[in-house]
Amino acid sequence: MNIAFIGLGNMGGKMAHNLLKAGLKVHGFDLSEVAIAHFTEAGGITHANPQAAAEQADVVITMLPAAKHVKEVYLGENGVLAVLKKGSLCIDSSTIDPQTIKDIAVVGAEQGIQVCDAPVSGGTIGAQAGTLTFMVGTDLNTFEQVQSVLKPMGKNIVHCGEVGAGQIAKICNNLILGISMAAVAEGMALGAKLGIDPQALAGVINSSSGRCWSSEVCNPWPGISANAPAGRGYSDGFATQLMLKDLGLAIEAAGQVKQPVLLGGLVQQLYQQLCMQGNAQLDFSSIIQQYLAKEA
Ligand code: NAD
Repeated sequence: MNIAFIGLGNMGGKMAHNLLKAGLKVHGFDLSEVAIAHFTEAGGITHANPQAAAEQADVVITMLPAAKHVKEVYLGENGVLAVLKKGSLCIDSSTIDPQTIKDIAVVGAEQGIQVCDAPVSGGTIGAQAGTLTFMVGTDLNTFEQVQSVLKPMGKNIVHCGEVGAGQIAKICNNLILGISMAAVAEGMALGAKLGIDPQALAGVINSSSGRCWSSEVCNPWPGISANAPAGRGYSDGFATQLMLKDLGLAIEAAGQVKQPVLLGGLVQQLYQQLCMQGNAQLDFSSIIQQYLAKEA
């Protein structure tokens, strides 16, 4: 099986590396020379543009920043759909809006090419370890093939429904995550201000009804959750700007179907403020800083 991997950045570079480690032949393209250098060093075969990388491919995987890059790589001047052979499979793992991948899938289907979405959770650590969760949107027959391609990169490969369903699952999960992190930050900061020991408070929350991933695994108060970004100055986590991007996608999708996302809109503003204060690269649990401002 020949694989073309387009978008070899923080996530894609590590994912492609795991395919190479599994003994697969991987052709790649990225706009960044640094990304290309790492890919070549790991044994990847580099090409001058997406079409050249995809020409011999049976499978194309894309891991790109946003919808405009995904459209460009599939449908643009050097777009891969124009050169792929009938029967090929395309898997987009970028986090984008559900409609874009559905539109691209329609163009693919006209040419006998299956296009599906498989956004991920697990971050750069999961990408490196090959333990990502993939949320896949495709028909059940194609899912089997998708599973076998994604296996070297993921621990959980979940079928969410038809094309676009993977993105829906991803943005709804991150909408909840963004809200729950802000809720835990608010509760932890209030407790500390009222005088309870944060360790004691977290202990109660984590054995009570307030318990969630944000309170237990990634508590925003430093020193509560082992290995959480809060314990290392909020570095090396899920960047606030990526959370902001995902909230924007959820709110945009909600607007398309006229569905209210009241809390989503509120926390979007909170994370926006955090980014404007120069914290865009910090883990999103640094939202707690909005509640800990020093008094005058
Ligand atoms: P990144 O910016 O590190 O990597 C994206 C890569 O795409 C870059 O190397 C860039 O040069 C390349 N690129 C952009 N346009 C291109 C084009 N037209 N052709 C070829 N290459 C192009 O981003 P990332 O952190 O790897 O994230 C990728 C996607 O995964 C995003 O959609 C992000 O939301 C999602 N995601 C990221 C994380 C994370 O923790 N970083 C977690 C889950 C999901």
